[in-house]
Formats: sequence, C-alpha cells, structure tokens
Amino acid sequence: MIIVMKQNLEQKEILKIKGKIEKYKCEIHESRGINYHILGVIGDTSKIDPDELKANRNVEKVIYVQEPYKKSNRMFHPEDTIVNINNKTIGGKKISIIAGPCSVENENQILEIAQKVKNSGASFLRGGAFKPRTSPYSFQGLKEDGLELLKYAREKTGLPIVTELMSPYLIERFIEDVDVIQIGARNMQNFDLLKEVGKTNKPILLKRGLSATIEELLMASEYIMSEGNENVILCERGIRTFEKYTRNTLDLSAIPVIKKLSHLPVIVDPSHAAGLWWMVEPLSKAAIAVGADGLMIEVHNDPSNAKCDGNQSITPERFDELMKSLKDISKAVHKEI
Ligand code: PEP
Ligand code: MN
Repeated sequence: MIIVMKQNLEQKEILKIKGKIEKYKCEIHESRGINYHILGVIGDTSKIDPDELKANRNVEKVIYVQEPYKKSNRMFHPEDTIVNINNKTIGGKKISIIAGPCSVENENQILEIAQKVKNSGASFLRGGAFKPRTSPYSFQGLKEDGLELLKYAREKTGLPIVTELMSPYLIERFIEDVDVIQIGARNMQNFDLLKEVGKTNKPILLKRGLSATIEELLMASEYIMSEGNENVILCERGIRTFEKYTRNTLDLSAIPVIKKLSHLPVIVDPSHAAGLWWMVEPLSKAAIAVGADGLMIEVHNDPSNAKCDGNQSITPERFDELMKSLKDISKAVHKEI
C-alpha cells in the first residue's frame, strides 16, 4: 500500500499517520522528493481501513500495490536510485563501466588489465576469484589469493573491485575486502545467500538468473532489500532461449521494463550474453541506447590463453576503441560515459 501525503506537512502530522500504521505491525518505507512524499506500507495491510486513511486531511491518496516486490518497486521510490561506491556511483546520468578478466589468473595479468581498462575510462575492476564453473574439473579461481591480487590491483589503480561471492561462509572476508559484491546468475535464487548480503550495507551487483523472469529478478532484489540493504544494482546478462548461436540471448527489452517497474540501477553484461567477443561492441551500444546505467565487460590481455571465457573477452586495445565508440550513443541518450 502506498500513502501519498500532502506536500510540506509538519513532522508531527507524519508521525501520527505512521503511528496508526505501525499498530497493524506493518513496516513503513518513507520516501520524499521535491514533488512527492510517500509512505510505502509493507506487510499484511488487509486490516488497514483505506477510507479512514483517505479521510485524513493530510493524505492525498491511497494506492494498493499489486506487484509482489515492494522496496524495489518504483511506486515506493519514484526517483532513480543512485548507488554510491567509494567516490563513484552507479545510476543517474553517468554510464558506469566495469571491466576486467573473467577470472584473476596471476599478478601480471590483473595489474596489466586493471591499468589498461582504467586508462580507457573504466570506473570499476571486475575479476572472479571464486568461479562458478559448469564442470568441477575446470579452473575454479585463485580463491583467497585471487582476492589479495584484486586488492593489490585496487591499490595500484584506485579502481573499486567487483567480485563474486558464491557462498555465505566467506561473507565477512568480502565485506572487508571487496567494494561491490557480485551475486552470479546461478545464485540469483540462493535465498540464504541473498538474505546474508542483505544484512550488510555493501553494494550488491545482482545478476539475472539463466532462466529467471524479470519479476523473479525483482523478487531476488527484494530478498536483499527486505533485510535492510538498499544498495542493489541489477544486471541483465542474457537468458536461455532456443537460440544456440550465441551463449545466451541478451534480453534488451528487460532494460526499459525494469526501468519502468523499479527505481534500481540496471547494467548489461554483453560478454556473458553473447559468449562471442565480436558481439560485445554492438550489444554494448544497444544496451546504452535502451537505457542501461552501465556495462560489465570481460577484458583479457591474452584471450586465447585465458583460463576462463577467452572466447567472449576483448583485448584492452579493443576495449579502448569500444569506450570511444560509446561516447556518441551516451550523448544521444543524454548521459555521459
Ligand atoms: C561472471 O560475471 O563472472 C559470471 C560468472 O557471470 P554469470 O553469473 O552472469 O554467468
Ligand atoms: Mn566469465
């Protein structure tokens, strides 16, 4: 339920309404902008009498929210959310670029890639330390050593680091070491993991599950937000369809849909969507054109010998070209890169 309050009310009037709602053991999510002041009510609202609320002269209107996601719903927070990460942001007028290898392999590799993507304009460094691989016999990541190398690359370049957490047992370490915690596609519905990251105040990059609907993605974000962490960034990374040419099918229509339904920032990962390095550039352009707040791109200095996802990784030189080619598209949608 959304209670739209009249403008410029005194705090004591707001408290009166809040007090009434709290009696029904409902949670209140208050959001105030230049032209609105709303109280989002979460919980069992069936016993609250809307007529009694409407009769209050300080209430503009009462709206029932049909969707099962509440805190991520745009009705609860009409303005776009901007997530702050160190001195950087995701969401708003700036297109944010996260770049780096699929997995951290060694010191030289991560340092060279980090320095080069930074020089080309990336704002964040990605790199997997714990890798969710389809086969248990494939490279599983450097694990804790990988985290140390990422920290070293951050120290050298100043780029905040984004890396995947696969299980709750390492959460303390990630809170300490990592700037953005990634929840991968395969864990989008690992509800215990979502609840644990929800108890932190770290920015969370939540990737869409391989066969998850947009509503399921928003419900996953709700798991995180309902624990108190509202720093959620969504990521469209391609979904499974009958098409086999590409690794997945990039669901570009998800971007405007999510923008309509939710206030959370949403970025696109064209690398995992296509699985093919030469498609990264056109899909990146398309993603910005349809309103994505940023991109996550796999970059490797030696793609043919990469331990993971070499096929979909672009070289630092191509990444540099790509960054230049995204300038005009960004301008066309009134954003800057
Ligand atoms: C990744 O970003 O490294 C990754 C494994 O992606 P996804 O979870 O989208 O497959
Ligand atoms: Mn990868």
